[in-house]
This record gives sequence, structure tokens and C-alpha cells, in this order.
Amino acid sequence: MALAFDEFGRPFIILREQDQKTRLRGIDAQKANIAAGKAVARILRSSLGPKGMDKMLQGPDGDVTITNDGATILEQMDVDNQIAKLMVELSRSQDYEIGDGTTGVVVMAGALLEQAERQLDRGIHPIRVAEGYEMASRVAVEHLERISQKFEFDVNNFEPLVQTCMTTLSSKIVNRCKRSLAEIAVKAVLAVADLERRDVNLDLIKIEGKVGGNLEDTELIYGILVDKDMSHPQMPKQIEDAHIAILTCPFEPPKPKTKHKVDIDTVEKFETLRKQEQQYFDEMVQKCKDVGATLVICQWGFDDEANHLLMHRNLPAVRWVGGVELELIAIATGGRIVPRFQELTPEKLGKAGMVREKSFGTTKERMLYIEHCANSKAVTIFIRGGNKMMIDETKRSIHDALCVARNLIRNKSIVYGGGAAEIACSLAVDAAADKYPGVEQYAIRAFAEALDSVPMALAENSGLQPIETLSAVKSQQLKENIPFYGIDCNDVGTNDMREQNVFETLIGKQQQILLATQVVKMILKIDDVISNSEY
Ligand code: ADP
Ligand code: MG
Repeated sequence: MALAFDEFGRPFIILREQDQKTRLRGIDAQKANIAAGKAVARILRSSLGPKGMDKMLQGPDGDVTITNDGATILEQMDVDNQIAKLMVELSRSQDYEIGDGTTGVVVMAGALLEQAERQLDRGIHPIRVAEGYEMASRVAVEHLERISQKFEFDVNNFEPLVQTCMTTLSSKIVNRCKRSLAEIAVKAVLAVADLERRDVNLDLIKIEGKVGGNLEDTELIYGILVDKDMSHPQMPKQIEDAHIAILTCPFEPPKPKTKHKVDIDTVEKFETLRKQEQQYFDEMVQKCKDVGATLVICQWGFDDEANHLLMHRNLPAVRWVGGVELELIAIATGGRIVPRFQELTPEKLGKAGMVREKSFGTTKERMLYIEHCANSKAVTIFIRGGNKMMIDETKRSIHDALCVARNLIRNKSIVYGGGAAEIACSLAVDAAADKYPGVEQYAIRAFAEALDSVPMALAENSGLQPIETLSAVKSQQLKENIPFYGIDCNDVGTNDMREQNVFETLIGKQQQILLATQVVKMILKIDDVISNSEY
């Protein structure tokens, strides 16, 4: 695109390959963009809340994902409209910053767009709408702060944390086991948390899954899990206070290279060669024993003869361990990876309180648990489930729960869920609108109405009458001036979200409102779209 001037000094725009491009300007551009954003939001709307629907997405190779997580749905949807991509990005940034609330943020943005369209139809300039939204979002965020509550918990009393994680999990496919999964998530976060600095490094929590068993068998391991077994079935299955040699060099006698020629023409010569090899390996084993290793973990394999010898010399070993896992083991156990056998020294051994091999069911599947490692607080959540889709979705759900627990450790404030916080904000924003004399007040009112769309969607998805339910709850909040009333999605019989224990983190909710407003403002400010038209 280039700007040029004609002979009268009037500017005009030159488009390369003009006839292949389409161009939308002014109000048409805004309308088209709004429509695209709304379309994406409409897809997610039915996934919101504890009774929300799940989506099944088929990838290009025919792999199927079933999920309820907004960020995942959008990520896999392969949209090619640029505005729709912004919505995907929006969901992703909520996922990145907060972890939970990825559906809600898109629903919110969709509602804001819908309201914006109405304001444009009334003839209000997009910039005024954007400014009104900005003011309204500030009011809403402040109001959230005001109605938030401090949440007290400590390492011994982590029940409140579990309750909040359960709210997150209740909208997922795995809600059957939400209690146990929430407990696992909270324990995992507390295990790696630095409560003094109020920081949690989620990288220390590894999530592993293996098909088989039940969701109920999901467990938390205070250590790391390696999908390998002892190299010989007769080796001990359990090693206490293990000293681990971590080798990336071959654990066997050097093989003659093809370049060398070894002439073996008699039986004696063969025997001596064999003896020599055996002795060489024997010395290697002895060396391991001398430095005090009680377990050897190797990146490479060794042959059956060596394996047999190891078993005889009573030195358990694990072979064919991947590089990434090896590194993790080294970090966790405080050991050093030994790239050359000669360099093996006692200081380089890693230490773990317990290494055990566990087998599952009737299958021959075995895994190695390395627990109570010397150096690190790293934990592993080991998920079991009937099929891969279930395990993948459980991983995503647990990730949400972990994020919620982490956010609560960072900031103890919570607001009430089930749309309660949104309704309270809507009332506050509506009240604030009167204070603004300008045209913005229409936009601010529109913002308040958009906030209502979250509880409406919750009600709709639970099979309730959206408008009736919303207005009942809203009047209840107004009358009693209590921001705890929300939508009773599970038909418990009360609207009081305190009683139902439906909480969300304050920062999560604030982030939702801020991010949604930002994106909508951005979309409203685009008034010229030039794109390659399709042929
Ligand atoms: P998101 O990806 O945005 O987290 P969810 O599908 O997890 O979407 O739905 C979250 C919404 O559901 C929140 O508004 C939350 O308050 C609400 N919610 C969760 N559990 C309940 C419940 N038991 N009763 C009412 N609302 C709930
Ligand atoms: Mg959620």
C-alpha cells in the first residue's frame, strides 16, 4: 500500500494488485470485524460453566480432541479470519497469565462486541464506544477489588484452596473426581511453593499420563516418574536410600570398530577375548560399586550378558533412559551426568530416598518411581484413565486447577463465581454511568449489559430461563446489597455462592475484564481492512 497525490494534490492510495484485493472501510469494516469476533464467541458460549458442553475437534491427521477448555478449543480450531485470530490470542493470553477463565474471557469479549454494534447502529462513534468501555472496565475492576474477600489458609489447613480448585474442575469432563483431583493439585502446588516469597514454580510439577486404570487411580508422587523398568526382572524392585550413577556413556566393554581387524582362528583365542571383555565389564561394575552407587541409570543399553552379570553382582540398572529424563533425574537427585566412565566419582552420584518399580494391572507395564530426591521439591502428577483423550483432557483440567491454586498463593483475594461477581459489577457500572455527562454513558451502560451475558450464558447452559433467572438474581443482589448471589447451575437450591463454595480468584476475574476490553477496543479502532480476496 502506498500513499500518492494526484495533480490536484488530493491524496489517494495505491494498492498493489488492486483487483485481487478486497477492501472494507469505515463502519463496514467495524461491522465485519465485530461479526467475526461474535462468531467465535458464539462457539464458546455453550461451553461455559459447570453444565457447559464439550467440543470434539478433529485434527488434520484425524486425531480427536475432546475438551471444555476455551483456549484449547480455539487453538485447535484453525481459524483464518484475522479478527477471529485475535480472539484466539485473547483466550491464549488469559491461559498464559491466569490459566483458568479462558472460555469466560471470550464470551465476555463477544458480548462487548455485540453491545458495541448496537451503539454503532445508534450512530455513536466507535472511539466514543471504546472510551466508554475503558472507563467502565476501570469501574468494574475497582468494584471487584471492593467486593473481594481475603481467603485464609496455611499449609496445614488447605481446605479453602481445595474448594476453589473444585470450582474450576466442576466445569470439566473430569468433575466426577473433582474432590480427589483438587486435593492432588493443591498438594502438588504446596509441595513446590515458596510460601514466604509467595511464589510457585509450576515447572517443578510434571504431569504424566498413562492409558489404563481409572481416573481414581491418579496419584501424586513426591519425586519423578520414569517410564522404564529395571533391566533384569530379578533385580530388586525397591531400593532405599539409593545412590544413583547417571551415565551417558556406554556401560559395556568397547566394541571393536569395523576399522580394526581381529583374527580369531582358534577356540582359545575366542575364549581369551571373551574373558577379557567380561573382565573389562567386571571392572566397570566394580568401579560403580567402589564409588558407592546402588543404582545405575544409563542413556544407552547393554547386552544381555552384561545384564546378567549386573544382576549377579547385585547392581540394579536401568537402560535406555531418554536425555530429557536423565537431566531431570540429575537435577532432582542432585547428581551429575557422567559422560565418561573414568570420571565417575562419589560426589557425582545422585541421591534419592526411595526408588521403586511399580507394575500396573495385569499388563507388563512398569514404571520407575524416584521419590524423596535430595535436591529438589519436584513432584509428578500421574494420571490414569481409560483412553488418551481422557488423559489429555485431565491434564488440561489439572493445569487449570494448578494455576488457580498458584494464583491464590500469590494473591489471597477471591470473588464469588457463578456469575455473582459479574452481576455485582454490572450493577456498579450501571450506577456509575449516570455520573458521566458525555455520550460515553451509553457505552458504559452497554458494558454493564455485556457483563450480564456471563450469568445469562451460565443459566442458559444449565437449562434455566436466562432472562428470568438473571433478573431474579439481580434484584436479589440489589435488594440485599450482597454480591454473593449467582446462578444456581447445579440446582442445589440456593443462589448463595458462599454456601455453594463457588469461588474464583480476584486476579483471574480482573484479568478477564481487562483483556476482553482491550481486544474489543482494538477491534473497534480498525476502520480499514485490506485483504487478499479469495478466488
Ligand atoms: P472458563 O474456561 O472460563 O474457566 P468454565 O467452563 O470453567 O470456563 O466455566 C467457568 C464459569 O462457571 C465461571 O463463571 C464459574 O463461576 C462458573 N461455575 C463453576 N462452577 C459453578 C457452580 N458449581 N455453580 C455455578 N457456577 C459455576
Ligand atoms: Mg474454568
